[in-house]
Amino acid sequence: MKQLYVVTGQAAFHQLLQKDDAEEQDMLTIPDLIRKKRDGGQLSDDEIKAFIQAVKEKTIQDSQIGAMLMAIWLNGMVSVEIKALTREMMSSGEVMEWPDEWKNFMVDKHSTGGVGDKVSLVLAPALAACGCKVPMISGRGLAHTGGTLDKLESIPGFKVEQSREQILEILDSVGCCIVGQTETLVPADRVLYALRDITGTVDSLPLITSSIISKKGAESLSALVLDVKFGRAAVCKDLESATELAQMLVEAGNGLGIRTAAVLSGMNGSIGRCVGNSVEVIESLETLKGNGPDDLMELVTTQGGLLLVMTGLVSDLSEGRKQISEAVVGGAALSKFQAMMEAQGVNSDTAQRLCTTNTDYYSVLRKAKHQLELKAPADGIVLEIDGLVLAQVLHRLGAGRSKAGEPVNHSVGAVLLVSIGQRVTKGVSWLRLHYEDPALTPDQRNHLESALTVGTDQKIQTQQKCTLVEKILPKKYAY
Ligand code: URA
Repeated sequence: MKQLYVVTGQAAFHQLLQKDDAEEQDMLTIPDLIRKKRDGGQLSDDEIKAFIQAVKEKTIQDSQIGAMLMAIWLNGMVSVEIKALTREMMSSGEVMEWPDEWKNFMVDKHSTGGVGDKVSLVLAPALAACGCKVPMISGRGLAHTGGTLDKLESIPGFKVEQSREQILEILDSVGCCIVGQTETLVPADRVLYALRDITGTVDSLPLITSSIISKKGAESLSALVLDVKFGRAAVCKDLESATELAQMLVEAGNGLGIRTAAVLSGMNGSIGRCVGNSVEVIESLETLKGNGPDDLMELVTTQGGLLLVMTGLVSDLSEGRKQISEAVVGGAALSKFQAMMEAQGVNSDTAQRLCTTNTDYYSVLRKAKHQLELKAPADGIVLEIDGLVLAQVLHRLGAGRSKAGEPVNHSVGAVLLVSIGQRVTKGVSWLRLHYEDPALTPDQRNHLESALTVGTDQKIQTQQKCTLVEKILPKKYAY
């Protein structure tokens, strides 16, 4: 009988599994596993299981987890390692079970991370309005990209921690919920996700794949769409690496028995005009009231339409897009969002105020202490607004974290006052910044101002001229 042990730093050891072919014992320490990955080795299923179990049981130190994450970031993982990591992360907590009559309609989407990416806030209720069930497990901000959970927590009372029973109840009464990882729901991702954010290990294809697909596997979905971003403000900087990630994600999702598709979309600037937690909630609510920006609507209708095709609720993508668009523009999705807020802890007066036309959002959401408008430096055409620069400055002003578990400032954000391709005159305001004390430094202000490129040559290709949705994988769903 061969036994594999992991010895922790405290020398207490945990038997992890037993093999039936040999007599000897392998004594593996966490530092051994880290060294193996650091030196380019391939971790076995058992070693990955041991690592994730130690993460779950908190018998491993954060510094050791950080070192393993960096070793994976540096050396990558082969397909069998990614599969094992995803499976172990998924089963580090409970895997949801649904009533039989829901099983074909359990759907979700997940993005690899963008700037101003508020698609989930609009799409989850739109899908519920079209007859789907959406048990969305989301994430917080990662590196410079925003997180759906942080956005929702800018709404007073919104609780992202929900038990399995509460999720079931909300899906029954509303049709959608947006929740976070917990001690019982993908707990390993909760730990790894927070540590990746502060250890420079976000942009690793195996870590992204296992993080996303483990959450979706725990949701026991029938269909999943992944929004894989590429461009300056995305984790994948070019279409080639995004395609590699999309293929990895689709393979991992299908491997868990979930019908999985990916939408590859450009991410040089931001989605919509608002970047930052509470300003993005406002833009999402405006979209649910029928006033959404075109780029956001394109992403919502494409991803939602695909999911309706994948569940068989519609026969082609154009019909799927139409149904999602009608749910958003016609107000059915807004009613679902209001019901979801109430089911997740927001008091009904607050939820109603947010969902009323022409409401004063700041009677509910906290407004930052200061607003500052930046002015265009010259006459010309807006050629580019760099989403990465916007996100980096906002992150430093408090919209993101530099330590795990740190609170974010929901009120910090930016609202774009001009669009790509728009003619502007010198001195016109192009961005309104919401910020707190201390004031931004001259360097931060210069950096923020550098996000805008105004030029005179209309032939220069602007970021919006690149098609937003570049491709859909597998192609069979794209028609
Ligand atoms: N979303 C996740 O849940 N994980 C990642 O790694 C990136 C985006």
